[in-house]
Amino acid sequence: MYFDTHAHYDDKQFDADRVALLGRILPENGIELIVNIGSSMQTSREAAALAVKYDYIYAAAGVHPNEAEEYDLDELERLAAHPKVVAIGEIGLDYHYPEPSREVQMAAFCAQMELAVKVKLPVVIHDRDAHEDCLRVVKDFCRKYPELRGVFHCYSGSAEMAEEIVKLGWSISFTGVITFKNARKTREAAAVIPAERIMIETDCPYLSPEPNRGKRNDSSNLRYIAAAIAEIKGISLEEAAKLTTDNGRRFFGILT
Ligand SMILES: [Zn+2]
Repeated sequence: MYFDTHAHYDDKQFDADRVALLGRILPENGIELIVNIGSSMQTSREAAALAVKYDYIYAAAGVHPNEAEEYDLDELERLAAHPKVVAIGEIGLDYHYPEPSREVQMAAFCAQMELAVKVKLPVVIHDRDAHEDCLRVVKDFCRKYPELRGVFHCYSGSAEMAEEIVKLGWSISFTGVITFKNARKTREAAAVIPAERIMIETDCPYLSPEPNRGKRNDSSNLRYIAAAIAEIKGISLEEAAKLTTDNGRRFFGILT
């Protein structure tokens, strides 16, 4: 029923109950599909291993801007060749902290975008406090490679930027942040874009939605994010679950 398009079950916060969650609890709670996202070389390997172990889990391989110094294009390309690795990510820019430098982040971002073009996979973009530069890079790549597709994950930009992203044929994904009281801007972005371009994600173990804000997150909280989308788009919870699952399947090419 639900598709969590961005989760980190490799995280050590899941060490104690990962097997119970992934093996039983999440499927029992209506979680139909998960993409476990890599954020470093090691977590990209672990994501691929989880995808091999569980039928309903897929993986993305990529190096987050905070780890930009360590990306290894050859190994990422080898990981991307696995049939259950369905995206390159998460990649992008994060100007929240001064390190790594913007130059180092930009080099890793662009190199991994080139890799995505080469291996014909969509990209998962992490954009924190770097909206202008991220959108510029994405637009440059889309001009050069119109076939390249991507999603801005944990969307935090404006409604105007969201409209520019969907014009490129790209998608936008919302986390539990959309349930927070002060997230008016995020809800506005969801309101203006076409329903067909919306995906949902937990980004667990981080970013638990209301009413579980502050606790460790897992995919069973996806229903609260689907409920927020349902309210914004004026559809039922079931429709929002189906819509976002179908959108995710189309985006990642999981059509079974
Ligand atoms: Zn993430």
